[in-house]
Amino acid sequence: MPLHLFDTLSRSIRPVVPLDGHTLRFYCCGPTVYGPAHIGNFRTFVMQDVFRRVVEGAGQPTRHVRNLTDVDDKTIRGALADGRSLHAFTAIWRDKFHADCAALGCLPPHVEPSAVDHIPQQIAMIGKLMAGGHAYAAEDGSVYFKLSSFPAYGRLSHLDSRELRHGATVASDEYESDKEGVADFALWKARKPEDGDNHWPSPWGDGRPGWHLECSAMALEYLGETFDLHSGGVDLVFPHHENEIAQSECCTGQPLCAHWFHITHLLVDGRKMSKSLGNLYTLDQLAAMGHDAMAVRWVLLNGHYRQPLNFTLDNLAGARSALGKLAKFAAALEARAAGTPAAPRLTAAIHPAWDALLDDLNGPKALGQLFTLISESAPASLSPADAADTLAGLRWLTGTVLGLTLPNLPDAATTEVPPDIRALADRRWAARTAKDWAAADSLRADLAARGWSMKDGKEGYTLTPAP
Ligand code: AMP
Ligand code: ZN
Repeated sequence: MPLHLFDTLSRSIRPVVPLDGHTLRFYCCGPTVYGPAHIGNFRTFVMQDVFRRVVEGAGQPTRHVRNLTDVDDKTIRGALADGRSLHAFTAIWRDKFHADCAALGCLPPHVEPSAVDHIPQQIAMIGKLMAGGHAYAAEDGSVYFKLSSFPAYGRLSHLDSRELRHGATVASDEYESDKEGVADFALWKARKPEDGDNHWPSPWGDGRPGWHLECSAMALEYLGETFDLHSGGVDLVFPHHENEIAQSECCTGQPLCAHWFHITHLLVDGRKMSKSLGNLYTLDQLAAMGHDAMAVRWVLLNGHYRQPLNFTLDNLAGARSALGKLAKFAAALEARAAGTPAAPRLTAAIHPAWDALLDDLNGPKALGQLFTLISESAPASLSPADAADTLAGLRWLTGTVLGLTLPNLPDAATTEVPPDIRALADRRWAARTAKDWAAADSLRADLAARGWSMKDGKEGYTLTPAP
């Protein structure tokens, strides 16, 4: 069964299947590289990573394109304040972003184009839009998209066209006096003194591309006119993705993509985590408090992507303990399997968790199913073959699909147990389960005499070399 995922445009859960019958081609709006990404941004990037892993886990190759926004007001301002070139400044934050992604276990996209490296493609698109009557140049050399030329505008965000005409919902961060329509948006921004050296020549004069245009141009370049899926945080639905649809579809005459995947925000104290509110956490800040990136990944996976997720430091402590329990379970399975070869990875034990992911990427349900598995399959009660299968499935689901690295356990928990000791311990466990206390005590004494200490748990036992 393919992944079924909510689509923002049709407001329904639909199967994700490649248009070309082979490779699932998708575009994710990438980071603006002017500072460290916060874990709110990473909620979006981690969910996109899980999306890709689930699609690939279901046997579908992918082509993942994610851009770097390396020219806009914020990057230019940051570079000037830092006394570095735009290139040198954004390279620092690009590298930091890559390091954080790696720590979080996110796969690198197949293509990571940057806006600055695609100025000619953006200029070519503007030329096409002007030729088609969808754009106009203002007196200062800026070029605007003519919203009235695209009646379908607003379909993604389900905006009322009256709201658009009156500009009620338009975030206007700067005064653009010579626009014809209040909601028309900039495709090309004429050079201003505060841009420093960061301007490029164009048929309309020196300037730089508008932010929305870069994604349209790079998606077209690397995925073609129509691709399978487009993704970003929910704040991008309007205006960014509406604008992308308008630019791209007016340019190519084709639908931009078949599916829209938006991730709801990470909150802190009920408010969106954002740089402007100053309520953010970065991975470095959390590391300084002793929290590692895998615990962050766990917390991010443990909220449904269509629900707001409220972040607290307590969530991280819970995540660490959950990861430890999984690692212990895996170690106990490994000991029980004692090298028995494993069957295919998607074994019955792991199916409920996998099914939860196929059903609209239900992360919390998938993680919950892993704990049901722990509580229902005590390794000591499994045959070595079943333990080997369960372990293979668990490793596939946690590592390959969810991108989690389980922590290393202290040596005692992973020490290999010789088969004769294991057999003695199994006999003692069976005696204990049958409430044959005398036999259980005598077998415990045998184990101790051979240097092993057996500790009973609710679901099974652990064996450690006696001190
Ligand atoms: P930016 O670097 O600001 O361009 O954002 C990168 C990605 O993070 C975009 O897809 C945003 O929609 C997303 N994003 C920003 N803030 C949050 C948040 N608090 N929770 C989830 N995603 C976010
Ligand atoms: Zn974008």
